[in-house]
Amino acid sequence: MAFQGVEFKAGTIGYKRVNEQYASSSYEGDRNFCPKAILQPSSTEDIQIVIKNARDNNVPVALRTGGHQYSGASSTDKSGIILDLKHTFRRPGVDLKLNRVGDKAFLYASVSYKLGEVFDFFKDNGIFMPTGQCSEVHVGGHVQSGGFGMLARSIGLLVDWVREITIVNHEGEVVKVTKESHPDLFFGICGGSPGNFGVVTHYKIEVQQDKDYEGSKGLWIAFFYRDHTYKALLDLLRRKAEDPNLPRGYDFTVNVTSRSADLAALYPGTKDQLRKALGGVQDEEKLEKLLDGKYALIICWAQFLNIKGEPAYDPSFFKEIKNVPCDAGKPPFIVKDLGDKTPMPASEIYTKWFLEKAREFDLPYIKRTYTTKRLTSPDWSKWFQGRVSEIIGSKENPKGVPGLWISSQIQMYGGKNSMFIKNGLAKNGTAIANRDSIISGTWDAFYNVPKPYSPIETKNNKPQAEEWQKKNDEGLKKYYSETDRRLLWGSWGDWDLSKPEVWKCYYDDETFEQLQNIRKKADPYGTFSYSPFAVPRAEQVATHWP
Ligand SMILES: Cc1cc2nc3c(=O)[nH]c(=O)nc-3n(C[C@H](O)[C@H](O)[C@H](O)COP(=O)(O)OP(=O)(O)OC[C@H]3O[C@@H](n4cnc5c(N)ncnc54)[C@H](O)[C@@H]3O)c2cc1C
Repeated sequence: MAFQGVEFKAGTIGYKRVNEQYASSSYEGDRNFCPKAILQPSSTEDIQIVIKNARDNNVPVALRTGGHQYSGASSTDKSGIILDLKHTFRRPGVDLKLNRVGDKAFLYASVSYKLGEVFDFFKDNGIFMPTGQCSEVHVGGHVQSGGFGMLARSIGLLVDWVREITIVNHEGEVVKVTKESHPDLFFGICGGSPGNFGVVTHYKIEVQQDKDYEGSKGLWIAFFYRDHTYKALLDLLRRKAEDPNLPRGYDFTVNVTSRSADLAALYPGTKDQLRKALGGVQDEEKLEKLLDGKYALIICWAQFLNIKGEPAYDPSFFKEIKNVPCDAGKPPFIVKDLGDKTPMPASEIYTKWFLEKAREFDLPYIKRTYTTKRLTSPDWSKWFQGRVSEIIGSKENPKGVPGLWISSQIQMYGGKNSMFIKNGLAKNGTAIANRDSIISGTWDAFYNVPKPYSPIETKNNKPQAEEWQKKNDEGLKKYYSETDRRLLWGSWGDWDLSKPEVWKCYYDDETFEQLQNIRKKADPYGTFSYSPFAVPRAEQVATHWP
């Protein structure tokens, strides 16, 4: 049988369009993301044909679904091809469906849906599951890189709830992988080295049901950026993250975003609802500026999941957030209590944290993600607030750095009731490392670059962005974390996982060695991925891009 899908060869017009991915603009041509061809299969049989051919002809295959891997790991250079599953499995009622068995519910989902679509389906069916916040990220890669989001502390990671994975293996055979049937392969696919163990086509995932979490609540709150407000929120987050007894139901993040962020994209409602919520801002000019994103903002998300058998909701946590010191005693400018006066299903609350934009700013940037097991200094909040305010500017430091924008999110995971930690320590058959972390954070510096056809002359601010991140890295050990601990989902910098100084940031020694051996069996010919962001097979001589 012949391949029935679509093939885009290098040099054709369609190739350029389908080759675009999130990392294309981030790396501005520093990395070679130009495969020989991009193949979009129409079925499992097509995938089997491609894999058998690739194996027989020694052609490496990079697997892609949503193309959101930050470093570009779902790409390859001209010696390989991309197998792109974004459009392959989208049959209504077949590739996305729900199965209720007794008091449990299971989602059967293909890799080809984006999170935004999955959550539309969820809200219609009164179910939810832990995921990240970007609605454009696809199920294909998202499960494999963990699925970190606003349920991490209360429910764990998406990868903790995977019950079965359907793959096409290196021989082109369809295999159903469960923790019991193929413990090694299951371990590898669930948080090991995405894209290196086989082509995933479908997942079966145990999902949560709204009916089991009635009485859940959320708080979406925005403040104008002020140094003292930001520091107070970081201090509060730290206190909660370090509280061993904080009940399981609470999740909390503190986000900060430079002026120019699109408030309407961040707000959990329509633009009209946002205007209404901004009713407190009487000054028409200020209102327009707000809608146009002319102010730097701090936005906090707090969530209480009402879990059976756990302590009831205690409003004091949300109150503390609302009462942090603001501008000249004024209250925060938007407070949205979710599920407070009118009950709201947990699936509805959870989707309020979704970012509807594919990218925070349409600019290249320098990324950082770090977690910590223990904050190394009592001055962490003061130090980090100082780093942020250097770029962002504030009333106290009005200038900031022109041409640089920051987007940061700090999240708490800590405490003896945290499912992020408990599931990790329980060795639940998945490979995500650093699960004893109490706090994680991202801080990305977006920078201006000259635009070739723009009449306005623009500076290239990359050196300033690099310098800012360099200073952050220098302070890291003293203020934040003893070791360099990163998150697999948010990779950045050197991406060559054959170097110990790189892989040690993502994996512990035992997990890394285990993954090398699993990959050796699952990918004996090196068919899957030719990107450096892949755990090398045991005894493999490292191969690198030119
Ligand atoms: C703006 C943005 C926001 C994000 N926010 C979050 C967040 O809040 N939480 C979080 O956890 N993550 C987040 N991520 C990271 C994201 O979840 C991961 O990069 C995820 O792996 C992307 O999956 P994808 O299918 O969209 O991307 P892809 O680039 O297509 O795939 C990612 C990886 O999975 C492999 N892969 C893809 N499809 C398959 C398949 N069918 N079979 C086998 N391997 C496959 C690829 O080879 C690659 O290594 C974010 C990313 C971006 C760009």
